[in-house]
Amino acid sequence: MTLAQAVKAQAIRLGFDLAGITTPEPPPHWPVFQDWLSMGRHASMKYLEDPRRADPRLVMPDCKSILVLAARYPAPDPLPNPPPFRTTEMGEGRAGAGRVASYAWGRDYHLVLPEKLKSLVGFIQQETGAPVPYRIYTDTGPLLERDLAQRAGLGWIGKNTCLIHPELGSYFFLAELLLGIELEPDPPFSFDHCGTCTRCIEACPTGCILPDRTLDAHRCISYLTIENKGSIPSELRPLIGNWVFGCDICQAVCPWNQRPKPDPQPAFAPRAGVPAPDLTAELSLTPQQFNRKFSESPVQRARRRGYLRNVLVAIGNSGEAAAVPALERVADGEDALLAEHARWALEQINSGINHT
Ligand code: SF4
Ligand code: SF4
Repeated sequence: MTLAQAVKAQAIRLGFDLAGITTPEPPPHWPVFQDWLSMGRHASMKYLEDPRRADPRLVMPDCKSILVLAARYPAPDPLPNPPPFRTTEMGEGRAGAGRVASYAWGRDYHLVLPEKLKSLVGFIQQETGAPVPYRIYTDTGPLLERDLAQRAGLGWIGKNTCLIHPELGSYFFLAELLLGIELEPDPPFSFDHCGTCTRCIEACPTGCILPDRTLDAHRCISYLTIENKGSIPSELRPLIGNWVFGCDICQAVCPWNQRPKPDPQPAFAPRAGVPAPDLTAELSLTPQQFNRKFSESPVQRARRRGYLRNVLVAIGNSGEAAAVPALERVADGEDALLAEHARWALEQINSGINHT
């Protein structure tokens, strides 16, 4: 067994579902990414402008190979033909439930995966008998990681911009180990299995999937509910449905995600009350309760204020008259951002009541 084979086998033993190796050459879609940035499609995500994304050797000059890894997270129910407000199995039939993107149902991958990567570095150093320069990334560094994953043979980049593996679909996290030793690279994944399919483009509630396999972040529900820290534009609020953190629709409709998959590693299993939270109850979460409920969860990224803002939009879209007293309390509160979203939700509910 070569060292490259032994390292990939060890990665699978550590719980990764896919492992591939590529070179540190510049990522092939860098020019597309640059155009995307120059058009401002990344909205307020300034960290994406880091020029080191052009070449992994700008991050690590002595990098000689890159190990790209994928770890699955839970797949929600497939959505063959979803109206935007349909709830998943976790919330179906329960009025007033929100939806959280499935990658955030369990423990934060930023906490889970680096430990495994460090263990893998230990294995490599044991095998080579010498210290090996390295850097680890889990969606944390200036790398075009889907490009690297495609070049390492893990899958193709779909029209929904996700990396898709023909057997495992697209519900997985990516992680990278940049190494100062040469490992034999895998052949790139060269086939595009999207073909003439356009299901993700048709299903996206905000129409933000662009023809060159990029997204207009300004309109993407994932951006609006997670990275965006300010107001959600009022014209987009009705399109958000009951998503309170992220959005799975363009993955849930993908034909490559329709096959049932084995359970992912336990760290990513859904925590009670997270996949389909009770919207009205969430409004009364104190900072302490929020931190307890979402301890070590990706939902922390939105912070309590962003999460409650999202909950208010989801309540407005749900038309839940029972939420009116709770909304009125927030509308009278001191936080101007939340108060404005609460007033919007009240208007939505009142206009719904007046129409019935
Ligand atoms: S995450 Fe949701 S809003 Fe964003 S592109 Fe996919 S379907 Fe559209
Ligand atoms: S839904 Fe269709 S077009 Fe979109 S990523 Fe999946 S296969 Fe590709």
